[in-house]
Amino acid sequence: MCSLCDEPAVTYQRHTCRHLCGFHFIIDIEQRVADTIRTRMMIVPQDRIAVALSGGKDSTALLIILNRLFFQSDEIRFIAITIDEGITGYREETIRSADHLTKQLGIEHHCLSFYDLFGYSLDDLLNERKTQACSICGILRKKALVTGSQRAGATKIATGHNLDDEAQSVLMNAFRGDLLRLVRNSGSDSSGKFIPRVKPLSCISEKDIALYLILNNAWTPLPECPYTGYALRREVRAMLSGFEYRHPGTMLKALESKKKIEQSCAGRNLSLPLGFCKACGDPCSGDLCQVCLLLQSLKR
Ligand SMILES: [Zn+2]
Ligand SMILES: [Zn+2]
Repeated sequence: MCSLCDEPAVTYQRHTCRHLCGFHFIIDIEQRVADTIRTRMMIVPQDRIAVALSGGKDSTALLIILNRLFFQSDEIRFIAITIDEGITGYREETIRSADHLTKQLGIEHHCLSFYDLFGYSLDDLLNERKTQACSICGILRKKALVTGSQRAGATKIATGHNLDDEAQSVLMNAFRGDLLRLVRNSGSDSSGKFIPRVKPLSCISEKDIALYLILNNAWTPLPECPYTGYALRREVRAMLSGFEYRHPGTMLKALESKKKIEQSCAGRNLSLPLGFCKACGDPCSGDLCQVCLLLQSLKR
């Protein structure tokens, strides 16, 4: 039975020790996202938000929730941006799903491909470098997303990163000896040269996002990216879900650690010395930006 009404419960929320019915679960999720947005001032009046919509679970939930929370607002606009990396047998279906969702919600939708932007699909680029797939794809996708958002005149980029992703990143950066990188990446940038990125779902677990979609009849089974098997993230993910199961709240605690580091770094300038890429003119810290360095090394 639901802890808040007489309906049957669909889930037990371990961190609050409550049973929740479908209705109260949906309200709880949307409220937590609204709180995250408000306390971190992620979205303010006159914003034009580019939502990174892969068509997968997280970004689908993000667009549905943002649309519900801001449906009445004339002052905030959303544009969905989908990046086609060129991954055979994977991306086609998620793009269809993204297209369907934006039509249903009446949200402007832009699609950009690696091929159009860089002259190669991800499949073409990888060949013998499959173990680096996620980092190569990550660098290019970030650039593609920024290009798409600039073209759409966006003031911010919203991504569907969830609690699991965030907790994994804390550990991965700790294991690499680079916790400062977390803080550097997460906040908006005061130089005005970057479009700030926000993650409204960073307090919602992957499991809760799945349940939210099922309860909203928005769950579509989609293929998993064929390259994820090669990533370090997969190992960290397995380890963390074991911890979360045995010690509920572990992921929220990892996120708290990140916030404490952020607080103790507040006001200090952590950004790397900024120059401009000699090839493309984007702001970067060396002679060439990460994208140009990567494309150059791949062409060899
Ligand atoms: Zn209830
Ligand atoms: Zn460059």
